[in-house]
Amino acid sequence: MQIHNVMEDIVKEKVNEVFQDERYNKKNHFCTCAQCQNDVVCYVLNNSPPVYIFSGKGATHFKLNYLDNMQNSADLAALIQKGIDRVVMLKRPHFPHDNDQNSYKSRPKGFFFNFPSITGKILNSITFGPVADVYISLNQQGVKMKMINPNWQNPYHIIEKTEGIFTFLPRPVECEKEGIEKDFECELSVFHQDYEPFNHYFSLSLKSEPYFADYYRFEHYYDLKTLYLIPLASLGASS
Ligand SMILES: [Zn+2]
Repeated sequence: MQIHNVMEDIVKEKVNEVFQDERYNKKNHFCTCAQCQNDVVCYVLNNSPPVYIFSGKGATHFKLNYLDNMQNSADLAALIQKGIDRVVMLKRPHFPHDNDQNSYKSRPKGFFFNFPSITGKILNSITFGPVADVYISLNQQGVKMKMINPNWQNPYHIIEKTEGIFTFLPRPVECEKEGIEKDFECELSVFHQDYEPFNHYFSLSLKSEPYFADYYRFEHYYDLKTLYLIPLASLGASS
């Protein structure tokens, strides 16, 4: 028996329709490469509640009913549009936006400490609301950690729509053999004129693996607790 998030099918299908339409009609002038399409799928899925089902029959039934509901269709279309605005319009400048998904350089060989993706949420300590337009960086011994590919930002720019959530995926670190255990001391920091300087330290215990994980491993993540930025205005120190 296979457990499956049926939203994945619906979202992939709908996003594909929107991208195909743009490929043929070129009305909205956004990048329609495979990477951008995948980014939009991820964005929409990250912002929709999953719906888990067991059987194929259940899936078909759910899909038909879900999209029959006008509100669901409208919400999904709006979320796809938001995803396009968010991830495609703000294209990552260093990534080659061609239609070849294999444009990643071939995977390095050897043994590696593969990092989990590191996610967290950062809120305003007074309002408990998300902070926006804040850059958060991930460092190791004072040096900015390299990300797995140019799709991933460090520092990560937290914008209003993402509700204070940030994600990092550090580049794997090579080592001499498999099964070595090592602790990586990491530091998150935020410097922003409106907030107290912020640092948060945490440690990742990793075991080296015989491959370079160059893909996003959904089951492999490190979730930080909610973090808070203290607004300077609240300390009476604002200029
Ligand atoms: Zn693109």
